[in-house]
Amino acid sequence: MRVLIVEDEVRLAEALGQILEEQKYQAEIVHDGELGLDYAKSGLYDIIILDVMLPKKSGFEVVRELRAAKIATPVLLLTARDEVADKVTGLDCGADDYMTKPFAPEELLARLRALSRRQGDVVLEELTFAYLTLNLSTYSLRCGAKSVHLGFKEFEVLKLLMTNPQMIISKETLLLKVWGTESDAEDNNVEAYVSFLRKKFFYLGSRVTIGTLRKVGYRLEEGGSRT
Ligand code: CA
Repeated sequence: MRVLIVEDEVRLAEALGQILEEQKYQAEIVHDGELGLDYAKSGLYDIIILDVMLPKKSGFEVVRELRAAKIATPVLLLTARDEVADKVTGLDCGADDYMTKPFAPEELLARLRALSRRQGDVVLEELTFAYLTLNLSTYSLRCGAKSVHLGFKEFEVLKLLMTNPQMIISKETLLLKVWGTESDAEDNNVEAYVSFLRKKFFYLGSRVTIGTLRKVGYRLEEGGSRT
């Protein structure tokens, strides 16, 4: 599980990172709201821990912009102030939970576990994009009357593309999310799986293509007529 920590108090941020890594979470830390939003928009994280009082952009603004960009990653807001008004503002902006500093590590971990379960609760059974339907429990991809079974990595690559249909997904993101940080997979592994998927789209007669944006990454596109 990957956690993004956005917290400008460096010592607190590092302490949080350490607590999380001891629990086998992968933690990444940034110290201001602008960077926090950029990182959060990558769609790479399973949970975001977000301080409210941040330089450049407040936690409220970050979560509001994140939700406006249709990114649903669960957000746990942190604040030094124990005020009901803050809590309401935070939840109104689209945060999922709220914690007042200082807090015990056990409380943080309990809330993270609850948030990751909550994310599990809203997992959809299917993802769709322009007549293409990916079943998330059987790994089958359907278009009209035809369907094909996807291998695990094909499935993970396509799931990432279909979950973020407006976003360009970089090769680095795909490598991190699908192959993991420990892997020695390279760009050409990603290219190979994208090409397998394109062949399956073609077999299905789908008009969907995986567009390549040179040196940047991939995005799903609804192509023109195929004749
Ligand atoms: Ca702060």
